[in-house]
Amino acid sequence: MPIINLTLTKRDLEKLRPCPFCGSTRLEINNTHRAYYWIMCLGCDASGILVEVGGSSFGRDVASEDLTRRHHQMAKQGTMDAWNRRPDVASPPKRR
Ligand SMILES: [Zn+2]
Repeated sequence: MPIINLTLTKRDLEKLRPCPFCGSTRLEINNTHRAYYWIMCLGCDASGILVEVGGSSFGRDVASEDLTRRHHQMAKQGTMDAWNRRPDVASPPKRR
C-alpha cells in the first residue's frame, strides 16, 4: 500500500485560524501511516482534534489507492474544519 502524507499547502494555512493558545500561525499537519490526521502548533505544541477516516476498513489489502487517497483527504479536511470550529478561548465575551 502506498504511503500517503498530506501536508498543509499555503492555501490551507491561509484558511486556518491561528493557534488559540499562543496565536501562532505556524501550524503543521501530522498523520500516522493511516488516514489519521491532526493539526499541531509549532509555537506551543498544542494539538488539534484527531480525525480518522476509514477506520476498521483500513488494513485490508482490498482498499484501492484511490480510496485510500480519498480517506486521507477527508481526514485532513476534517481536522482542518475541527481546528477552525473550536471555541475561541482567547477572545473576551461580547456581552457584559
Ligand atoms: Zn500555539
